[in-house]
Amino acid sequence: MLIAQKTIEELPHTVEKVEGKPATCTEHGLTDGVKCSVCGEILVEQEIIQATGHTKETITGKPATCTEDGLTDGTKCSICGELLAAQEEIAALGHSWDAGKVTKEPTATATGVRTYTCKRCGTTKTETIPKLDATVLIGDVNQDGEVNATDRMILSRYLAGWEGYGTKIKSMDAADIDRNSKVEAKDRMILARYLAGWTGYDTYFK
Ligand SMILES: [Zn+2]
Ligand SMILES: [Zn+2]
Ligand SMILES: [Zn+2]
Repeated sequence: MLIAQKTIEELPHTVEKVEGKPATCTEHGLTDGVKCSVCGEILVEQEIIQATGHTKETITGKPATCTEDGLTDGTKCSICGELLAAQEEIAALGHSWDAGKVTKEPTATATGVRTYTCKRCGTTKTETIPKLDATVLIGDVNQDGEVNATDRMILSRYLAGWEGYGTKIKSMDAADIDRNSKVEAKDRMILARYLAGWTGYDTYFK
């Protein structure tokens, strides 16, 4: 007797999830896929998810001050934290001193004080001004015992940068007529006006 042939029905696949992975800033990811756990056939292919790229975030720097170094702005990724542009140091600026002011006039018996102020931060520093030389005759730059046109000429030429006139000034103290610790155009002006008989200028020569 014949046994009738009988179709064996095909079994359905046994579906199993293939785990994907998320993309990161720099590496691509994969979607979830599906395969049959029995025969291995891929039923749903995994797909590539493109890398997202970094998300830039500013790292705020700080300006340099007179005494402290600063930092430039930097950049990092706000997602993965990777440093994209490092902050750079900005060197401290140093104080920016003004020309200074005489805050205590020197006398023959006591030193004076000149105070400098930083134009940026207001910090001050002081410098001692030496005692006045009581024996020096103010305005008598060549120390010949008289204040006259020769002194004016030597001081003018010295200030104009003429060669050899630095050594003709025998006393810088005598040339610093306004006693501000600097020999400058103003001293020459006072001397010239004094010699020309302007009123009010003789007080410098006492
Ligand atoms: Zn299968
Ligand atoms: Zn990143
Ligand atoms: Zn300063």
